[in-house]
Amino acid sequence: MNSRQPDVLVLGGGAVGLACALYLLQAGRSVTVIDRGKVGAATSHGNCGTITPSHAMPLAAPGVLADALRWMLKKDAPLRIAPRLDFALLGWLVQFARRCSADECRRITAIKAPLLLRARSELEALVQSERLACEFATLGTMNVYRDARAFDKSHAAVALVAQFGISAQTLDGDACRAREPALNGSIVGGYFNANDAQLRPESYCAELARAVVARGGEIHEDTAIGGFRVGGGRVEAVATDHGEFAARDIVFALGSWSPQLARQLDLRIPIQPGKGYSITYTRPQTCPRIPVVLKERAVCVTGWESGFRLGSTMEFAGFDATLNRTRLDALKRGAAEYLIEPEGPSMLEEWYGWRPMTYDDLPILGPATALRNLVLATGHGMLGITMSAISGRLICESITGAPPSLDPAPFLPSRFNL
Ligand SMILES: Cc1cc2nc3c(=O)[nH]c(=O)nc-3n(C[C@H](O)[C@H](O)[C@H](O)COP(=O)(O)OP(=O)(O)OC[C@H]3O[C@@H](n4cnc5c(N)ncnc54)[C@H](O)[C@@H]3O)c2cc1C
Repeated sequence: MNSRQPDVLVLGGGAVGLACALYLLQAGRSVTVIDRGKVGAATSHGNCGTITPSHAMPLAAPGVLADALRWMLKKDAPLRIAPRLDFALLGWLVQFARRCSADECRRITAIKAPLLLRARSELEALVQSERLACEFATLGTMNVYRDARAFDKSHAAVALVAQFGISAQTLDGDACRAREPALNGSIVGGYFNANDAQLRPESYCAELARAVVARGGEIHEDTAIGGFRVGGGRVEAVATDHGEFAARDIVFALGSWSPQLARQLDLRIPIQPGKGYSITYTRPQTCPRIPVVLKERAVCVTGWESGFRLGSTMEFAGFDATLNRTRLDALKRGAAEYLIEPEGPSMLEEWYGWRPMTYDDLPILGPATALRNLVLATGHGMLGITMSAISGRLICESITGAPPSLDPAPFLPSRFNL
């Protein structure tokens, strides 16, 4: 047993776990973070770093399933379900399919929109108050189209999100290029999302970790959690390859790996890994000033002073750890269709990560019902960087008993009987 027992043990040092740790430290709790690798090195590392209330519509939307089925055998499709016999994935997909109706899409958008708006302001406040040097910028984002029919079809989704307070400016092709000169002549239209923002996720995580340590938090890297000791309706200890850790409260922030470890606690967390890729370059000369989503190809392009990244694609294929060349090439091909200069002079990193996807596209935040001292902070899907600070705040409020900043009910683990 590690001798000094903190108030709170945070399991998992991604953006979500680190943000939880930081808010708890701000509230005067002593905190230890445990990660089996380096903090911030998993899914929180090579993502696109966009902060996007504009993405309030869930992945489960009318038509998505038909697209996914059509693309099943297409290895470079933006959304792909790999044909395989995996009962957990099949069960998840059935639940996902049940949510692909217009009514359900609207219901989830109504929940996500206020969460994301609050997430956006909370993140900016955290970056400023903790002076996190992470290239945070509030220049908005754009979604652009090359296909006039796809652009026309997109208006309904934009109108839906606008009903919940997240409006976008509709632009024709020339207006898109005027706003973002890195786009080429093929763009027919798009949207400008003024309230969106961006940051460099690797720097954000490094800075969160710095702030955690500066406030007296302990971080144990290269420490793999293997199991739990449970007694009296609570987690008494967490077993790792560096001995046991214990605390009054335990925050479970293990991203895509949450279901594996939660099974040992008899919790069936409905998360599937949604694999995405990115390629990072040094900055091209004609680098986008603001993040742009190249809609038909579902590729996100983010430029920072420190570099340039093409990212995205979503693949449900379990924990397949191959760096798939076809899917990486699809990012480059997509970028070449829309951008004057689609790649930077030097390629720095090819990467993949597993988004922790819930089928209702909402995070799982709050106390587990059967274990008194266990709080879940997982299932952030495609928006874990965006939602990191608000998740940290809500988890801190749940543990300290402070009044919640936002109605936590839609995010509670109890919706999945956890
Ligand atoms: C291609 C791509 C692009 C994306 N773009 C964006 C974007 O633009 N904006 C946005 O908001 N989000 C984006 N996301 C989503 C975002 O990256 C995730 O939602 C977020 O990183 C999840 O954070 P997390 O802390 O929950 O998980 P992670 O960062 O994965 O952290 C979980 C941690 O748990 C640790 N762990 C796991 N098992 C164990 C164990 N047994 N013992 C100890 N530690 C363990 C891991 O090492 C890891 O550090 C993107 C994702 C991808 C893949």
